Amino acid sequence: MSKFSDRSKWLEERRNAGLYRQRRIVNSAQSREMFIDGHKLLNFCSNDYLGLANDKRVIKAFQQAAEIWGVGSGASHLVSGHTKAHEELEEALAEFTGRPRCLLFSSGYAANMGAIQGLLSSADHIFEDRLNHASLLDGGRISRARLKRYMHRDAHDLDNKLSKVSDSKARKLVVTDGTFSMDGTVCDVDAIAEITHKHNAWMMLDEAHSLGVIGKQGCGLADPDNYSVNDVQILIGTLGKALGTQGGFVTGSEELIETLIQQARTYIYSTAIPSAIAVATLTSLQIAREEEWRRERLRELVQKFRIGATQLGLKLLDSKAPIQPIILGDAHTAVKLSNALEDLGILITAIRPPTVPANTSRLRITFTAEHTDDDLKQLLSALEQTAA
Ligand SMILES: *Cc1c(COP(=O)(O)O)cnc(C)c1O
Repeated sequence: MSKFSDRSKWLEERRNAGLYRQRRIVNSAQSREMFIDGHKLLNFCSNDYLGLANDKRVIKAFQQAAEIWGVGSGASHLVSGHTKAHEELEEALAEFTGRPRCLLFSSGYAANMGAIQGLLSSADHIFEDRLNHASLLDGGRISRARLKRYMHRDAHDLDNKLSKVSDSKARKLVVTDGTFSMDGTVCDVDAIAEITHKHNAWMMLDEAHSLGVIGKQGCGLADPDNYSVNDVQILIGTLGKALGTQGGFVTGSEELIETLIQQARTYIYSTAIPSAIAVATLTSLQIAREEEWRRERLRELVQKFRIGATQLGLKLLDSKAPIQPIILGDAHTAVKLSNALEDLGILITAIRPPTVPANTSRLRITFTAEHTDDDLKQLLSALEQTAA
C-alpha cells in the first residue's frame, strides 16, 4: 500500500481537532462588503487597510497600463521581465522608505525568503521574534543559518541570545515583524536596534502591516528621519496589504540589493510581477501617502471599536493597529464563533494553529478606512449576540 494512504485519516484528524482549513468562494471585489455563497457579508478580515484594492483610480491605472504593457511579464527580472515600470516603482518605494535601493519580488513571502537566504549561509546566526510571520521563519530555515527565537518583543532575551555567539566571524541577523500580523502589537524598534547594534548584527524589519498604516505619509515604524540604513539595514514591505495590489519588496543599501540580485533564489527563479501591477501600485502608493484621512479614519475606527468591545466585556490585546484580535484559545470555539458571526452577516475567519501558537486560536478583526460607523455598530452588535 502507498505510504500516502494515511492522508484521509490525517485529514479526518484535522477536522476533529477543529484545524481543517477551507476556502470560501467570494463573488465580488475586495471591499468592506462582499458577496460570498450568495450572501452579503460585512468584511472584517482583509488586510486592505486603506481600501485601495478596489479604488477607481488604481483600477484605471491598471487598465491603462495593461494596454501598454500587456498582462504577463513573460520572464524573470534577470532574463527579459524587468521593465521601466518595475524600475520606476522600485525608485518610488526606495524614496518612500528612505533607502538607497529597492528590489521587487513576486510577494512579501518571496521577499522574506529571498532576503534571508540571499544573505546568510550555514556559518551564520539568525535571531527571530517568536511571533514572527511564517515567511520570516521559513527564510531562516532555508538559509541554513543557526536559528534562535527570542521572546516576543523582548530586547533583553535577544541580548542574551546574541551574547552566546562566540564565533566572531559569523554574521548575525535580527529579524522582526514591525506590526505583528496576528496580534497587532508593534516591535520596539529603538530597543531592538540598540541591541542589534551592540552586537554588530544587522536588523531586518518586516513592515507588511505598518506601511501605509502608520507613520508620516504611512512610512511605517522605521521613519527614515529616525532610522537610517545603519540602524535598520533591511526593510521589507508587501504591496498586497495597505497598497492594495500584489507583490513584495526589500529596501536597503546598494550592496544589499546587488547581493540579492546575485543570490536570492526567489528573485532569480521567478517571473516578474506584471508591469501593469507596478504602474497601479505607483498610483496606490501616491494615494496612500497623500490621503492622510484614511489613516485618521483607521485610528478612529480602532478607538471606537475598543471602547465598544470593552463595554461588552471582551478582552482585547494591547494593539493600536487596525488588527484587533479576540483570543478564544480553543480552535473549535473560534470556528463556532466565526460561523455564528457569519450567520449575522459578519465575515471574520478564525485564525488557528499553526498560524498562531497552540491554544491561542482567535478572531482576528481588521478594519479598513472604508468601514462606516454603521458597519462598526453592526460588528459590535453581532459580537454582543455571540461572543460577549
Ligand atoms: C502577509 C505578510 C507577509 C507576506 O506578504 P505577501 O505579499 O502576502 O506574500 C510577510 N510578512 C508579514 C508580516 C505578513 O503579514
